[in-house]
Amino acid sequence: MKQKYEGSCHCGKVRFEVQLDPAEALVCDCSICTKKGVIIGRVDEDELELLTPLEELTLYQFNKRIAKHYFCPVCGIHTFNRPRSAPERWVVNLRCLAGVDLAALEPQQIHGSAFD
Ligand SMILES: [Zn+2]
Repeated sequence: MKQKYEGSCHCGKVRFEVQLDPAEALVCDCSICTKKGVIIGRVDEDELELLTPLEELTLYQFNKRIAKHYFCPVCGIHTFNRPRSAPERWVVNLRCLAGVDLAALEPQQIHGSAFD
């Protein structure tokens, strides 16, 4: 069931709220997800509310430069990104959410570079 969660980076500069269902958690084997070690959730544009302006985050792009990977410029934690396969949506790092029992998640493994 979708629920509202508060999210943040490690230092607290980046804050957001998101509506999602942790039971739909995913782990992706693309090059960047692998190195970040993120557990991710896909949400629509209106399900993510930024409490820190996007301009205050650092943007990382590579290859075709369609996906937008944002991270905190202070502590370096990746909080969310715009996926290449659906740039109008968001992919959120579930490890950044308060109140999600990470140990209880059984993320579905997805393949390819859908989220890079
Ligand atoms: Zn930070």
